[in-house]
Amino acid sequence: TDHIDGALALSWMNRFTADFHDAQQALTDLDRQAGDGDFGTNIASALRKVAAELPTADDATFASVFTATANGFLATGGTSGPLFGMWFRAISRSSAPDGADTDLLAQGMAAGLAKVQQLGGASVGDNTMIDALAPAAQALLDASTGGLTIDKALSSAAEAARTGAASTAGLLAARGRASYVGDLALGVEDPGAVTVALFFEAGAAVVSG
Ligand code: ADP
Ligand code: MG
Ligand code: MG
Repeated sequence: TDHIDGALALSWMNRFTADFHDAQQALTDLDRQAGDGDFGTNIASALRKVAAELPTADDATFASVFTATANGFLATGGTSGPLFGMWFRAISRSSAPDGADTDLLAQGMAAGLAKVQQLGGASVGDNTMIDALAPAAQALLDASTGGLTIDKALSSAAEAARTGAASTAGLLAARGRASYVGDLALGVEDPGAVTVALFFEAGAAVVSG
């Protein structure tokens, strides 16, 4: 595979949704320790809206799958809903008629990262989803420069996102609700960052077959 077409994009979202549900309780517990405990409910609600809007396998294009995903998240509350929504919207806008290759995916992720940072004001090290998004986006840009195929590019992004998510356990939060609880958030991974890792791991898994 050298690009993600509509069918693969659909598999990616279905896999991510299933993996999220397996992790939902654990993610809610993380948000309960460092936030207000609604993270799992917020994302589950977004994913229900996404499922209702996703195209069928016959109609799916990369753009339509991620547009539906963006709309589901944008229609959801919490801090994470609109931020993930704008991220997915940027991803949906970077594809060709046959889908997204490594270069287009890297460009979309970079644009999405910039948008989330513009809206939320967080940088790497602030203990948010940015701690997973930024290294994943960088891994994709490196993969693009290095001419890597999409499966290798997504594996690299998944590894970077997982390492970034793990790093948040050692961080004090500077943004979002976790910043209200000070060092009570130490030792607690940021649920938004963990969710980003789940997303890239799901992508790497479906693209590798
Ligand atoms: P709320 O904090 O409003 O209850 P959620 O529980 O839905 O929102 O989402 C919390 C997640 O949002 C955090 O785990 C973090 O990853 C992310 N987040 C919070 N504030 C920001 C921000 N300013 N920039 C980027 N991500 C953020
Ligand atoms: Mg919350
Ligand atoms: Mg909340």
